[in-house]
Amino acid sequence: MVDPTTPRPARAPRETATAGLEPLAVLPVFVPLRGKRVVLAGSSGGAPWKVKVLAAAGALVDVYAAEPSDELRAVPGEIVDGQVTLHERHWTPDDLWGAVFCVGAMEDETDAVAFVAAARGTGAIVNAVDRPHLCDVKFGAIVNRSPLVVGISTEGAAPVFGQTVRARIEAMLPRGFSRWMAAARDWREQVTGRFPGFADRRFFWERFTERAFAEPDREPAPADLAELLGQTEAAPKGGAVTLVGAGPGDAELLTLKALRSLRNADVILYDDLVAPAILDYARREARTMLVGKTGHGPSCRQDDINALMVQLAKSGKQVVRLKSGDPLVFGRAGEEIEACRQAGIPVTVVPGVSAAQGAAASLGLSLTHRDAARRLQYVTGHDRKGGLPEDLNWSALGDSSVTTVVYMPKRTLGALLERAVAEGLAPGTPALLVFNATRPNQAVVRGTAADLAHRVEAAGLEGPALLMVGRALAEAEESRVADEERRAV
Ligand code: SAH
Repeated sequence: MVDPTTPRPARAPRETATAGLEPLAVLPVFVPLRGKRVVLAGSSGGAPWKVKVLAAAGALVDVYAAEPSDELRAVPGEIVDGQVTLHERHWTPDDLWGAVFCVGAMEDETDAVAFVAAARGTGAIVNAVDRPHLCDVKFGAIVNRSPLVVGISTEGAAPVFGQTVRARIEAMLPRGFSRWMAAARDWREQVTGRFPGFADRRFFWERFTERAFAEPDREPAPADLAELLGQTEAAPKGGAVTLVGAGPGDAELLTLKALRSLRNADVILYDDLVAPAILDYARREARTMLVGKTGHGPSCRQDDINALMVQLAKSGKQVVRLKSGDPLVFGRAGEEIEACRQAGIPVTVVPGVSAAQGAAASLGLSLTHRDAARRLQYVTGHDRKGGLPEDLNWSALGDSSVTTVVYMPKRTLGALLERAVAEGLAPGTPALLVFNATRPNQAVVRGTAADLAHRVEAAGLEGPALLMVGRALAEAEESRVADEERRAV
């Protein structure tokens, strides 16, 4: 057991690397082909579609095929963009000069090898249909909302899976996005000219994106541009601090506002308890700093965190102070808000799912009950020095008809439950210790007010934990057990 009176070693806030990149099977790159010469040789089954795609990208496609299929012959009449010229003869090396992209679509492997070698000799990008071993680049599945283009590859691992992913993305991106994308392209220069500062431009484009998502099928109009420029002009300038609730761990419990704040942040100051998956939602360019506050182990001093937050915001940064659970529950948020106010820094709070809510939800436990618990209380398990807080309302903790959730319960668990029982809590009252609530390694130790502490010690579990005590939990527990028994029958 840690001696709660030992002073904690201090640590300084430290910069952490943003979420690393996982290995990539292939690098997606996008090739502008408008007005450029492309060669396709051969007439295999895959040829017509490739020619259409290349032409759709605005390319000038020369097709060399001694015996074109009917389908390939029909292509020049079917294209929507670009230009396709069909030469009814075998390709020659001279045909490849000046082509930026060469596609071999021949049946014969030897011919394909010769074509690829000749094409590489001219410096063109090379693809050979259905011959991955000869390809410099491969075609992916496409979702087309030009100028927004999504390319999908499974690197040959699972084409059907890839098609389903493509269908899902198709469904997610309304067709009207094309018009908004085109408007973005047309308006970009004006926006950049009017707002040289990055923060303003980001403000503009975020509002623009919100509109596109809200009304994808409406044609964007000059009035939209004027309105958005006006809003950006009127937006508050300079740095600000947002206290954001990261929730108990499961990233899907983040609010939309939390997500937006993370995407907006220049700097994110986060606690150890914030799950790493949450930081993945930050912009890649954002600085992330661990200002470790764990409740045990080395911690950064609160004054240092406040000073850092204020200093970063004063230098014009959008600072997110990312705290586990809800920022206003046992998070010393009051001090951080006060520090910002005193320094004249605008500060806002984005609520989060507190550990108690996360734990209750993932266990399917109602915290209140019409008969068993009309009151719900959140209590801290230790005081400033780490000992059992003397100033807790002990008679409230001794009340058997209330649900009590104790944050930071581990160091004083035995003493707290013992004292609650001494104050009148029925020893048989159900009690749970939930470790790592909502995380993949969530674990629960179940017991009663009288025996939970021993059970927890025996279980030897690690991680942030919450104590939940109350008769209401028994009702839920009974129905859970009954449910399990029913299912087992
Ligand atoms: N603001 C946070 C609480 C911060 S105090 C919130 O609203 O949840 C830190 C304590 O929260 C931990 O000691 C632990 O008791 C609890 N806690 C945070 N995340 C938890 C999790 N995933 N599972 C269980 N308890 C958690």
